[in-house]
Amino acid sequence: AASASKNEEPSFPTLPRFEYSPPRYTGPTTEEIIRKRKEFLSPSMFCFYTKPVNIVHGKMQYLFDENGRRYLDGFGGIATVSCGHGHPDVVRAIVNQTSKIQHSTILYLNHVIADFAEALASKMPGDLKVVFFTNSGTEANELAMMIARLYTGCQDVISLRNAYHGNAAGTMGATAMCNWKFNVVQSGVHHTQNPDPYRGAFGSDGEKYAKDVEDIIQYGTSGHAAGFIFEAIQGVGGIVELAPSYLTSVYSTIKKAGGLVIADEVQCGFARTGSNFWGFQNHDIVPDIVTMAKGIGNGIPLGAVVTTPEVAKVLTRRNYFNTFGGNPVSTAAGLAVLKVIEREKLQENAHVVGSYLKERLSSLQDKHEIIGDVRGRGLILGVELVADRKLKTPANAEVLEVMDNMKDLGVLIGKGGFYGNVFRITPPLCFTKQDADFLVDAMDYSLSKL
Ligand code: PLP
Repeated sequence: AASASKNEEPSFPTLPRFEYSPPRYTGPTTEEIIRKRKEFLSPSMFCFYTKPVNIVHGKMQYLFDENGRRYLDGFGGIATVSCGHGHPDVVRAIVNQTSKIQHSTILYLNHVIADFAEALASKMPGDLKVVFFTNSGTEANELAMMIARLYTGCQDVISLRNAYHGNAAGTMGATAMCNWKFNVVQSGVHHTQNPDPYRGAFGSDGEKYAKDVEDIIQYGTSGHAAGFIFEAIQGVGGIVELAPSYLTSVYSTIKKAGGLVIADEVQCGFARTGSNFWGFQNHDIVPDIVTMAKGIGNGIPLGAVVTTPEVAKVLTRRNYFNTFGGNPVSTAAGLAVLKVIEREKLQENAHVVGSYLKERLSSLQDKHEIIGDVRGRGLILGVELVADRKLKTPANAEVLEVMDNMKDLGVLIGKGGFYGNVFRITPPLCFTKQDADFLVDAMDYSLSKL
């Protein structure tokens, strides 16, 4: 399965071999789950697919439905399952820790939280070594923005248009897509032009976009900024890699304005980009604050904020506390995840398999006019569908149709972007080249059926 030429018939996708049988499912039927979901769960919760899929079991990069049917997981629980579903080391760490103590409080000593903080600090560049644990990415970003405001004594935070940083009051303010925002007060955040090489006004010219940050500080603030928050690769926004040289330029502008630079590594961190452990390291800057969640716990709710001892001092001004943040079971999982990433060389794998997958996806672009762009790095990749390559008209209906077809063939992927027309591919980092071939063959086949 190398490159696809224009007239080549797509090969029928065949699921790679995988010797594993999930236990027999004995739970309620899919219809029963749908009924309960409709009756008892928030109406804001939606399902992918015309006919929702009922996932009852996971093993490494595979998921299983109630009938034992196997699917390749190309979405990784939204870039969250880093080591693989049910990775034995992570499971063992969780079970062991649960049998010792599930929860006490941060007010007593326990070595697990300290061990994980030390291990996490060892993965950070510069002086970033003080860790505060949270339960989610939203909480981590709320805290990061608060720290920046406290440290600088300034309220103005700048975030990128098309960003997703969370769904609480502060982070919803930093999120900059109307379909993810409710009309409630979200003050103190300015949104700057997104350095999006595909859809942005200045193509890949990072310096030109960076000028807008200077303008915002000059015309929209008192000349000072609390901070600038960014994702090195926007995930929910549709896998948008920031234009080259943008971040180095903005970094110096923010420093001149007395602000802190906050890297939101919730999706692109934890080895996912392959070339580096953190997404920001692909841009040659060292932020003042790094936030993380998702991949840190392989699916266990856990988040963290890491900053410098100097910046962390602001948190001593008041009591600041989080009941579950740093829970021993979550941090035991986090420690196991870090060890697995290192021992199994998952960062290298994300680089090798991700580069191969991107190359194969790019070759589909020669064949299918509807593919406007293929982008991303490592195992955080996006494929944007457009009805017209010149006008870049989003092709949303086709995205749903292809996803439905790919599901029927045995592959699950995500979608996103401001227009909802981008396939998001963020599988567990143990993804293989055979998996990559299967995913691309299934996409090729499904696109050819449009
Ligand atoms: N930051 C980014 C980049 C995200 O993608 C998300 C969630 O998708 C968040 C923050 C919020 O994380 P959580 O859903 O854990 O609150």
